[in-house]
Amino acid sequence: MNKLNDDCIFCKIIKNEIPSIVVYEDDDVKAFLDISQVTPGHTLVIPKTHVQNVFEYSDELGATIFSRIPKIAKAIKSSDKNIKGMNICQNNGKLAYQSVMHSHIHLVPRYTAEDGFSMTWADNTDKYTSEKLQSIADNIKNNLED
Ligand code: 5GP
Ligand code: ZN
Repeated sequence: MNKLNDDCIFCKIIKNEIPSIVVYEDDDVKAFLDISQVTPGHTLVIPKTHVQNVFEYSDELGATIFSRIPKIAKAIKSSDKNIKGMNICQNNGKLAYQSVMHSHIHLVPRYTAEDGFSMTWADNTDKYTSEKLQSIADNIKNNLED
């Protein structure tokens, strides 16, 4: 059962109350061009139910949403021979750059190193012993839910 939120811009896109340029749609998922087009073909994939972020996903919702990604990613790639790669990212929470609080996955096709998309990754390899890594992993494992 899909639940939508009257105050949510992406719920309004699902209901076609706000127009969008759709690239894929089925009963559970809608994919449409991001208005900002970081690179040409930049697409958002959203669940057709109002969940804020990945922390609200059931396993079943996760399986449904993520299962659509390869099909849509391959279609974007095939649409332009200049697409050489793709960044797929999901921002969860304001601190993680989420600005629209209806969960969505960004598919950003990549053309060149200077095409408008970038990511910064710190490399802290030297700061972690294997014991420290094991303790972090154990803590995560202890928090896995059935
Ligand atoms: P976030 O920063 O939450 O990960 O990404 C939200 C994305 O939604 C942004 O890239 C922004 O351009 C896009 N966006 C916001 N409002 C609209 C809209 O009304 N239509 C479309 N197509 N994209 C939107
Ligand atoms: Zn919503």
